[in-house]
Amino acid sequence: MIDSREFRKYAHEFVDWMADYLENIDKLPVKSQVKPGEIFSKIPDQPPGTSESMDDIFGDFKDVILPGMTHWQSPNYFAYFTANSSYPSVLAEMLTSTMAAQCMVWETSPAAAELEEKVMNWLRDMIGLPESFEGVIQDTASTATLVALLTAREKLSGYSINEKGFSGDEKYRIYCSSEAHSSIEKAVKMAGFGRQNLVKIEVDDTLAIRPESLKQAIENDISEGKTPLCVVAALGTTGTVAIDPLKPIAEICRNHNIWLHVDAAYAGTALVLPEQRWMIEGIEEADSFVFNPHKWMFTNFDCSAYYVKDTEALIRTFEILPEYLKTGTRGQVNDYRDWGVQLGRRFRALKLWFVIRDFGVDGIQKKVKEHLDWASELAGQIKESEDFELLEPQHLGLVCFRYRPGEERDKERLNAMNQELMQILNESGDIYLTHTKVDGFIILRMVIGQTNVTRDHVQRAWNLILQTAETL
Ligand SMILES: *Cc1c(COP(=O)(O)O)cnc(C)c1O
Repeated sequence: MIDSREFRKYAHEFVDWMADYLENIDKLPVKSQVKPGEIFSKIPDQPPGTSESMDDIFGDFKDVILPGMTHWQSPNYFAYFTANSSYPSVLAEMLTSTMAAQCMVWETSPAAAELEEKVMNWLRDMIGLPESFEGVIQDTASTATLVALLTAREKLSGYSINEKGFSGDEKYRIYCSSEAHSSIEKAVKMAGFGRQNLVKIEVDDTLAIRPESLKQAIENDISEGKTPLCVVAALGTTGTVAIDPLKPIAEICRNHNIWLHVDAAYAGTALVLPEQRWMIEGIEEADSFVFNPHKWMFTNFDCSAYYVKDTEALIRTFEILPEYLKTGTRGQVNDYRDWGVQLGRRFRALKLWFVIRDFGVDGIQKKVKEHLDWASELAGQIKESEDFELLEPQHLGLVCFRYRPGEERDKERLNAMNQELMQILNESGDIYLTHTKVDGFIILRMVIGQTNVTRDHVQRAWNLILQTAETL
């Protein structure tokens, strides 16, 4: 086993490897090219009986593991949404893993709790949320949405389901658009509402929820004796970054005393730019809001920012107080184990603090603005190109399009062509992009948002797409 002297030696060596990796990452095949089971078969079936050398372990990391990695930090990464990192974030994570503190309550690391409170205030102000919101870092947006649904459930039921469980007479209903993220359905299942009580509301031709249909669905449910509990508005759907109109949704929620949760997992980062805040017009009326700095704000996974107005309801929903967790500081400070599902918590605020300080708010704004500019430039090029069709409206850093050469209009043939185009591009290792479906048509998605992407990378990708399409 390595000792402190060797730890120092390897740590230096690894940091050099890390810097080299990040400097040369654009030369690696962005999407891993391995076949299913390939890595598994290269790893011994039994653990080593005795200590192995760090040289061997590190060698296997490079030879066996690395080929099976997709390089999310490559500037040629345009798939899904980005899961960004940055130098300050990596540096902070080195410190975090070295201290390896478990930050469940204030006493187990006061700095972790107090930095989290402060940085979440910074972040709230940076994206223009009202001061009536307080933040807590969750692992993912999926967890944050589950937390929102559970809090809404307990607040409306007078905390009785926590106490007695469902009586069977509740008829709670949850609403979101047909384009909303799958994490909502997952949370509805986990929170005990039953998937059938998730009402998926139809969308308009921009793929945003129709407030009129939402209102209708809620009124129908009420007339049938059901209880509308929560609406989840999507600010930026995952498929196409459609943006639900918050203001009319908020008004419906206010009229019927419904918890309004806003899922801005990807799009929230764009709110650092004041000109993008039209998206949150009406946010004062929302009850909770989530966005992921681990998607687009240069802070490595995991770091999801959950904001809630009624922190008392949140804490009442999650608080537990066995004797061994009682502390003398309760009530004076935030014990974040009561603000979500987990007891044990990582010190995630540190990396966010490093990122915000190293970039500065203006540095974050500048990068995000560039991503938006390059995305709209690309959208313009696609729109002008003869054989490609842009999906409009184009929102934020996501550009959706499809190959549609000449007079070809047959759905099956177009889908097959786009599938093939995507496959060739991804297997080339040069770029990585993904797809979604709109009205049964395969649509290719390119997300411009990787920390180190430049205009050149975007233009190179577009040229590659054009050239590859010609070979089909
Ligand atoms: C990515 C995404 C999520 C899920 O995020 P996790 O942090 O991975 O749980 C939820 N909602 C939307 C709109 C997303 O884009």
